[in-house]
Amino acid sequence: MNRTPATRRAFLKSTMAASAAIFATPALAQGAAPRVVVIGGGFAGTTVARALRTADARIAVTLVEANPTFTACPRSNSVIAGLHDLTEQRFDYDKVKRDGIEVALSAATAIDPQARAVTLAAGRKLAYDRLVLAPGIDFRWDAIQGYDQKASEQIPHAYGGGEQITLLRRQLESMEDGGTVVIAAPVNPARCPPAPYERASLIAHYLKHKKPRSKVIVLDAKDSFTMQRLFENAWKEFYPGLIEWVPLSSGGVLTSVDVKTRTLMTDFDKYEAAVANVIPPQKAGGLAQIAGVADRTGWCPVDPLTFESKLQPAIHVIGDAAIAGAMPRSASAANSQAKICAAAIGKLLAGGTPDEPKLTSACYSLIAPDYAISQTGSYRPVNDQFNEADGGAVVSAVDAPRSLRQQEAAAAETWFKTITAEVWG
Ligand SMILES: Cc1cc2nc3c(=O)[nH]c(=O)nc-3n(C[C@H](O)[C@H](O)[C@H](O)COP(=O)(O)OP(=O)(O)OC[C@H]3O[C@@H](n4cnc5c(N)ncnc54)[C@H](O)[C@@H]3O)c2cc1C
Repeated sequence: MNRTPATRRAFLKSTMAASAAIFATPALAQGAAPRVVVIGGGFAGTTVARALRTADARIAVTLVEANPTFTACPRSNSVIAGLHDLTEQRFDYDKVKRDGIEVALSAATAIDPQARAVTLAAGRKLAYDRLVLAPGIDFRWDAIQGYDQKASEQIPHAYGGGEQITLLRRQLESMEDGGTVVIAAPVNPARCPPAPYERASLIAHYLKHKKPRSKVIVLDAKDSFTMQRLFENAWKEFYPGLIEWVPLSSGGVLTSVDVKTRTLMTDFDKYEAAVANVIPPQKAGGLAQIAGVADRTGWCPVDPLTFESKLQPAIHVIGDAAIAGAMPRSASAANSQAKICAAAIGKLLAGGTPDEPKLTSACYSLIAPDYAISQTGSYRPVNDQFNEADGGAVVSAVDAPRSLRQQEAAAAETWFKTITAEVWG
């Protein structure tokens, strides 16, 4: 059965036509070694680089990454709560190099889609036949008055990995018992929608044991959030009176920040925080704008069969930067998209037609050390976007026994170890 809708076929035809113009005879069919440059060595970019080598070892793959060490965001809320160490979140590219991938440790600063060339900060230029962008997210620094990149050095977002996680951890440690922790949660679309609430939970866990007179306030730019009932039930059970959630309609939207006094202002109120964690609204990583693959939403529209940009031929966008319909912006989704993208590029380079994909995502949220909930789903292209498949997303049951929550906590740990071993190990 051909499940490809007409609009999908038309787009695929135009993609193939663009590809045909680029590769009069597909590079692999000519026996040439096509060059694929991947920018961004996170969950999406590193996975696609390695999967491309597996798809066809004749493809010359260069992975461009700004930092020599990657710090993973999943599980970073546990680091903030003192349950894990930041060193356990860090991964390098030694094993990736051993796969025959050239790893260029430099920021990409310019992309010329016409000349099909990438410029690195070091001045080097890389030519490509196909380019994959996996730059993750950037913050909309103009969205909250008084909160810019400089301000984040004092009031961390802790939402992009790295030292920001340590900064928030240290601030919690040095806070006096009785201080208020204020977390500002962003509007959607955003990276990992449950993460601010997982963070509130695990910070509450830390406070309950170390600073029992303190509390957490979540200022939210939304009126509801993912797995809300599960979170709120667990908050009542584990952290009664410790977490206050202020939704949009009760004045939850953060409008300005006074960094010096750590005061967070909404339209309704002022919150003086002992520790503040501002997670700003987001958009695709800056490189997406530079490459001309982001639309007016700030995110990147892509063809769901190949992840090729709808705005620039021969450039694919995967991971958090891409608009992937119902798929959440998660490491798990990024990993799944990368594998589909690699297979599609392999087919396109060989002159073939990409298969219709099925993608998956699994997101765990830890609420206490032995208590986790999850949301899993599979996705297929429908009307040029990813829709939920096979009955939709599966969320942990509200009335599940404690033993199941314990199993989910163990599964979350196994998931992290498995995915990071697959991507960097
Ligand atoms: C607190 C928190 C908890 C989370 N928990 C989970 C979870 O439990 N499960 C889950 O599945 N997901 C989770 N996520 C989401 C997950 O971290 C992201 O969805 C995932 O990292 C996206 O992968 P990516 O490859 O698109 O981006 P990233 O992993 O951010 O990688 C982007 C990479 O691109 C590099 N880069 C950017 N621009 C350039 C440039 N110009 N030149 C060179 N390199 C560049 C960056 O240095 C970075 O290494 C969580 C996120 C947060 C913040």
